[in-house]
Amino acid sequence: MKGMRSWAEIDLAKLERNLRLIRESIPSHFKYISVVKADAYGHGILPTASRLMQSGVDLFAVANVKEANEIREMGSGWPILVLGPLLEEEDEALTDLDLIPSLSCLEEVKRFQALSKTKQRKIKVHLKVDTGMGRMGVWWEKASDLLREIKSSKGIELNGILTHFAEPANEEFSRLQRDRFEQIITSKLPTPLPSDFIIHADNSSSLKVLEENSVFNAVRIGLLQFGVTPPTHSALAHLKVEPVLSFHTKLALSKDLPAQTSLSYGRLHTLDRDSRIGIISAGYGDAIPLHCGNQASALIRGTSYPIVGRVTMDQTLIDLTDAPPDLSNGEVVTLIGEQNGNKIPLETLALHGKTIPWELLCSITKRVPRIYLTKRE
Ligand SMILES: *Cc1c(COP(=O)(O)O)cnc(C)c1O
Repeated sequence: MKGMRSWAEIDLAKLERNLRLIRESIPSHFKYISVVKADAYGHGILPTASRLMQSGVDLFAVANVKEANEIREMGSGWPILVLGPLLEEEDEALTDLDLIPSLSCLEEVKRFQALSKTKQRKIKVHLKVDTGMGRMGVWWEKASDLLREIKSSKGIELNGILTHFAEPANEEFSRLQRDRFEQIITSKLPTPLPSDFIIHADNSSSLKVLEENSVFNAVRIGLLQFGVTPPTHSALAHLKVEPVLSFHTKLALSKDLPAQTSLSYGRLHTLDRDSRIGIISAGYGDAIPLHCGNQASALIRGTSYPIVGRVTMDQTLIDLTDAPPDLSNGEVVTLIGEQNGNKIPLETLALHGKTIPWELLCSITKRVPRIYLTKRE
């Protein structure tokens, strides 16, 4: 990687393989909603969404109108669901870009109905139901009122319904959420429904739906397609998905320091022996969480070396005292990923950084170029 100080490598063949694995394990009539919010969880929305388009997803889901626009620029025709609430000033994007909003309240029904009239276009919506997340969506006990309003708004076509789990690891609470949602689906939905109507709740960590002969006919998958393994309670936890992203930097300098020298800001580490310290070209201004100082490690030539002292914005120190003497500046240093069969999983770096894997993915900054491996299998 000439000319690069740190970079994230994105393997699109792995993305494709993960998608295939997931698709093979969900019922074949299920629609696959690919969640690519937050720049595809830091992987870069354009290259990943375009590969996903070629590999067979049914819908895309994004957080907002700006992200939806990025997908729309790649091609018309893909159904795009906007997961987050629209600001009123963004409403026109629904017709201009042909988007599907997640609808939560009466005010939105009125706004979208008015827009439909102005634009002389029907607006497809998915009704979001709050079954216990306490975030977006109409509170489940009030869903039938809102459904009535939607039905009498001729410019709005109800095309799907969704809910979102608050604590997938908590089986009892998720069961309660599922029951509330199913009550609405079985007794409150208008008839007839359009033939492409979809019902979805499950994401990477809550795929219970597979075990049941359920009312659902779609899933919304983000993390799992990027190879971030869901917790063990997920019905898809056994899938051999592979991480799509790895993160690398280079050794920029190394130097010998005497025992008793303290290192970096705050002097959080003191050398207990004469040491060789390496300075790597990445800090929290790239992707390495601050809390990784004195906790995490990095791979060079497949061997792990501890990060010592506080991580700084642009540089991080590692202890190379036990490294081979011919280790030289410019060597590739891996913080997430594999070298010679040794691995540092994203989950491990996140744990040391006192954060969650997906927050870490979202914290890989603009300074880090994404390098795409585009080869097909
Ligand atoms: C992010 C998100 C998802 C995807 O969740 P993953 O755990 O990444 O699979 C699904 N639904 C909603 C509403 C989301 O915000």
